[in-house]
Amino acid sequence: MHAYRSRRASETKGAEPRPKPTRPSVPLPAPKPPQPPPSDRVPERLPAYFYRLSAADQRRYLASDGVPELPLKVTDVVMARVAALRAALETEDLRAVTRAAQQLLDALSYVLGVTPAAVEVRGVRPRNHRGELHGLFYPRTRPPRIVLWARTARRHKPVAPKTFLRTLIHELVHHLDYALLKLGASFHTYGFFQRESFLVRALLIAEDGRTRAAAESAKNPTAMHGTKTLYAPRVVDARSAQPPR
Ligand SMILES: [Zn+2]
Repeated sequence: MHAYRSRRASETKGAEPRPKPTRPSVPLPAPKPPQPPPSDRVPERLPAYFYRLSAADQRRYLASDGVPELPLKVTDVVMARVAALRAALETEDLRAVTRAAQQLLDALSYVLGVTPAAVEVRGVRPRNHRGELHGLFYPRTRPPRIVLWARTARRHKPVAPKTFLRTLIHELVHHLDYALLKLGASFHTYGFFQRESFLVRALLIAEDGRTRAAAESAKNPTAMHGTKTLYAPRVVDARSAQPPR
């Protein structure tokens, strides 16, 4: 089970002054220009718990760390379902939100070529001394399960749509670690968070393009009626949805 909390203290604290073992012989990702500062390179950013993993899990961790992007194609169906999820969140109806979240996951899973996980949306986030629980992923159930919460723990306010979307994508990335990358485990590596950000950015950029296109059409009725089919696909296609490099 993978828990996504607002604080991930368990993975970042508790460094022990133990000698570093020899790194497993796994090919590291080729360095990309510009070179990051030395402190940001792979060996230095490994958390303390990495050294407590089995050799097999260390290989999985490093494999995860080396994949920054995913083969997402932002289709019209995907974007329509992002819009439907936002609309469902406004209703604050958990069943409607669950349905919309499932439909978005189905569309994303289709374009990514994996079997979708099953999603369930619940009310107020659970909370304990370790922080506030945003989402959970259960990789061993069939189908794998994602649980998300729609209200904040302290004030019971609806979770902001962008935050909800990011949590949904976070749990999807866990699912993809098994279903697409076949890692056999899923760790919160630097590469994991790069993949999460890659997907979120792609969706938000595509959404932004749609909003701007709609505003343009509203300002220029001729474009809306006369050239809609020429303009609309250009702002929502996969190419323009790629995040800037
Ligand atoms: Zn997680």
